[in-house]
Amino acid sequence: MAETLFAGVEMGGTKCICTLGSAPHDVRAQQVLPTREPATTLAAIAQVLPGWNARAAAFAALGVACFGPLDLDRRSRTYGRIGSTPKAHWSHVDIHGFFAERFAVPIGLSTDVIGAALAEGRWGAARALADYAYVTVGTGVGVGLVAAGRPLIGCHHPELGHVRVARARGDDWPGHCVFHGDCVEGLASGPAIEARSGMPARSIPQDSPIWDAVAHALGQLAHILVVSVAPQRILIGGGVVSAQPHLLGRIRQSLAASLNGYLDLEQLRSGLDRYLDAPGLGTRAGPLGALALAADAHAAPGPPQRA
Ligand code: ADP
Ligand code: ZN
Repeated sequence: MAETLFAGVEMGGTKCICTLGSAPHDVRAQQVLPTREPATTLAAIAQVLPGWNARAAAFAALGVACFGPLDLDRRSRTYGRIGSTPKAHWSHVDIHGFFAERFAVPIGLSTDVIGAALAEGRWGAARALADYAYVTVGTGVGVGLVAAGRPLIGCHHPELGHVRVARARGDDWPGHCVFHGDCVEGLASGPAIEARSGMPARSIPQDSPIWDAVAHALGQLAHILVVSVAPQRILIGGGVVSAQPHLLGRIRQSLAASLNGYLDLEQLRSGLDRYLDAPGLGTRAGPLGALALAADAHAAPGPPQRA
C-alpha cells in the first residue's frame, strides 16, 4: 500500500523549510525559503505546496511548526495567530487562517519546538517515552514539553527559554533579551552569544569563557526541567548546540553541579550522557516536526477552529 503523504512547513526565525514525505526515511521533496516579512514569506510557501499537491501524490494533511509565541487555544478568537514578537512585522499574523483558506486538508499547527519534540518522540531519541523535553538553542531558546504523551499546553505553550536563572559566579553581563535581559534566551541564544562576543558564534574558540556562561545558563534550565516536570529525557539541539557539540558535556556538568546530589536518580549519575543528549534526528528534528504535526492532524482532525 502506498504511504500516506504529508506536507510540513517549519517556519523559523531565519528560514522556512517545506517538506513533503511520510517519515525521515521517506522525504520526497524539500525546499528552503528565507524568512522575510510575512506577506512575502507566506506567499513563497503558498507557491511551493500546490506544486506538490498537483502531482499524483497529493498530501493528506499539512503540518505547520511555527516560531512562537503562537496562540494554540482553539477556543480563543486569536487561535493560530502569532503573539507580540520583536520579530519585525510578525506580531498578530494569522498563520492558521492563511493555510486553512488555501488548503482543504486537516492542518496541524503548533510551535516549532513542540513539532520537533513530537518528531523526536515518533522517530528520534525520545521514542517510547511519554514524558520528555526538547530544547532548541538557536535564534532563540525554546522548550517543547511532552507530558503523558501529549504536548504540554496550558493557557499558552510554555516559554521556558525566558525563565530567569541563577547567574554564574562573577558573571554580570546584562544579557540580550529585549524583555528580560538575562533570561536563558538572553544569555545562551545565538544572537546573545554574538552580541556578547562581538563576533559570529562559529568563530568563537572552544576554550572561550563565553561557552562556560552558555553552558551554565542551559544547565540551570535543565535543573528547572528536572525539578519541575521531571522529564524522562532532555534533548538539546538547535543551531548553537548542534554546531558546538562540546557544549553538551559542559551542560551535563553544570546540571550535576547545580543539583548538587539532590535526587538520587540513575539518570543523573551513570545515565546522564543518555539522559541529557542531542536529538536523535539532529537538525532534521525541526522540519520533521512539521510532518509529525501533519500526521497527528490526519489521525485526529481537530474540532472547528473558531466558535
Ligand atoms: P532558528 O533558531 O532560526 O531555527 P538555528 O537553530 O539554525 O535557527 O540557529 C541559528 C543560530 O545558530 C544563529 O543565531 C547562529 O548564531 C547560531 N550558529 C550558527 N552556526 C553556529 C556555530 N558554528 N556555532 C555556534 N552557533 C552557531
Ligand atoms: Zn527573555
